[in-house]
Amino acid sequence: MNIQELVERLGENREEIVKKAVQCKTAAELMKLAENNRIKLTEEEAGQLIALLRPRDVELSLSDLDAVTGGGDEKVNKECTWCGSRNTYFNPDLYKNICEDCRMTF
Ligand SMILES: [Zn+2]
Repeated sequence: MNIQELVERLGENREEIVKKAVQCKTAAELMKLAENNRIKLTEEEAGQLIALLRPRDVELSLSDLDAVTGGGDEKVNKECTWCGSRNTYFNPDLYKNICEDCRMTF
């Protein structure tokens, strides 16, 4: 499933829906939420989404969501803990920062 595509499907209510979605414990709850918001969500997608949300269900904020969708302000580069360079970027797939200079993740 393409998360970005799914988020786009949420439309302008996505902020509210994501807040509710992270509180869902089961795919069934998530599907109910989707249904209430007239979003098409298959059982398979709901299951994948639950699995995705669960590891950080407490901390999934909109800025995390923006990192996933590439929409947020990610201009504040973290200082590399290995070489001190600020030539770094956040990789939402790894959920880590990557240093362009020494290629280490942190
Ligand atoms: Zn470095």
